[in-house]
Amino acid sequence: MLDKELEVTLQKAATDQLKSKPDQDNLGFGQFFTDHMFTMRWDRRQGWHDATIEPYRPFAVDPAAMVFHYGQAIFEGMKAYRGKDDQIFLFRPQDNLSRMNQSALRMCMPRFPQDRILQALRAMVYLDQGWVPRAPGATLYIRPTMIATESALGLRAAEEYLFFIICCPVGAYYAEGFSPTRIYVEDRYARSIPGGAGNVKAAGNYAASLKAQTLAHDKGYAQVLWLDAVEHKYVEEVGSSNIFFLINGEVITPSLEGSILPGITRDSVLQLARDWGYPVKERRISIDEILAAGKDGTLQEGFGTGTAAAISPVGEFCYREERIQINGGVAGALSKRLYDELQAIQFGEREDLHKWRVRVG
Ligand SMILES: *Cc1c(COP(=O)(O)O)cnc(C)c1O
Repeated sequence: MLDKELEVTLQKAATDQLKSKPDQDNLGFGQFFTDHMFTMRWDRRQGWHDATIEPYRPFAVDPAAMVFHYGQAIFEGMKAYRGKDDQIFLFRPQDNLSRMNQSALRMCMPRFPQDRILQALRAMVYLDQGWVPRAPGATLYIRPTMIATESALGLRAAEEYLFFIICCPVGAYYAEGFSPTRIYVEDRYARSIPGGAGNVKAAGNYAASLKAQTLAHDKGYAQVLWLDAVEHKYVEEVGSSNIFFLINGEVITPSLEGSILPGITRDSVLQLARDWGYPVKERRISIDEILAAGKDGTLQEGFGTGTAAAISPVGEFCYREERIQINGGVAGALSKRLYDELQAIQFGEREDLHKWRVRVG
C-alpha cells in the first residue's frame, strides 16, 4: 500500500465558508485554525484512501472508536515560516513525517507514504498561505495526527484509522523577549520508561506528563526537568523539549537511548554546534553532575530545544528544595546565537547549508 500512488482530491472552501482571520497581534498558541485540513483513511482492505484537502470541519466519530478506549493516537508538530518576498518555508518536514512513521510502527498503526503526504501538505499550506502570519517571529503551526477510528471494544490494534493535518497561526514565542525559565527537577513522576513509548510522539505520553507539569506550575515553575525512570538520576528532557547544557565550553545533551524523543531541533542544534567548532557530546548526564557544575561555576548554560520555542533558555533549576541559578538567570550567548541562527535559517534569511528548508509552492 505504501507504494501505490495515492490520489489526493481538492475540495476548496467556498468564498462564503472562509473564516475571518484572527487579530495578528493576539494569536497565542493553537487557538485559531485555518480554512482547510487534509484527511485520509486507512482500512485493511483498501489501505490509505480518500485523501482529501477539504474545508476545516468537525468529525463525527463513533463513541466506540478505539482511540477513545485504548489510546492509539500519534501526532507531529512542525511549522511554516514566511520569509521575504512572501516566500513560505517548511523546516525539515521529511524528518517530521519519517518520525511519525516511527511513531506509527511503535503504536501498531499503519505507515503512510511520506513523499505523497509532504506534497499534499505543501499544497494545503499553499492554499491557506494567507494564514501564514506576517508579524515578526509568528508562524503557521502544523499538526499531523493519526487516530484509531474502528468502532469496537476489545484490546488489539485497530483496523481502521484516520490521518489528518490541521494548521493554526501562532504568535512569536518570545513576544516579551528571549527570557529564561525556571525549571522544577521532578524526582517522583517519570515521563518515559525503558521499553516504553517515550521516544515516539504518542498522545498518551502527554496525558501521563500532566500531573507533574501541574504540580510544578503550582510551585511557580514553568516546566519539569524529567529524570530517568529507573534511578531518578539521569537527565532526560525538559517539558516536551530536549535539554542541552554548556559545561566548561562543551555542549552536552543526553544520548538517545530509547526513552528520549529524538527532536529535530535537537539534531539541528547538534549540527550547528559542531559547525561552529564546539566540542559536542551526546551522553548520559546525571543531575548530580549538573548540581556540581552549578556549584563550581562550570555550568555556563542550559536550554531546551523544540519546534514551538526553538531554543528555551533555563535560568534556574530547583532540585529537592535546592536552587541552582544558571548564568545569573539571564539567557546565555550560545542559547541566543542558536536561536538567532535557527530563526534566520527557518525564515529564509541565512544560507541553508544543510538543505533544511523546503519551499512551499
Ligand atoms: C516534540 C518533542 C520534542 C521536540 O522535538 P522537535 O522535533 O525538536 O520539535 C522533544 N521532546 C518531546 C517529548 C517532544 O514531544
